[in-house]
Amino acid sequence: MSDGGTYKCGSCGEALSGPCGYCESCAQYYHLTCAVQGGSENSWNCPNCAVQLSMATL
Ligand SMILES: [Zn+2]
Ligand SMILES: [Zn+2]
Repeated sequence: MSDGGTYKCGSCGEALSGPCGYCESCAQYYHLTCAVQGGSENSWNCPNCAVQLSMATL
């Protein structure tokens, strides 16, 4: 089965529905409910990348 075109949450793996965020660092979509993290609308990162970015001190 191919589900091309269907984006899945990078956290729970379920199909995206409703509000979602796109992490530019890992190019993954996430339910906002699955990845509630501090950030702005312009620069949002998933929990995994948020940790990495906080360590990288860019
Ligand atoms: Zn999810
Ligand atoms: Zn990420």
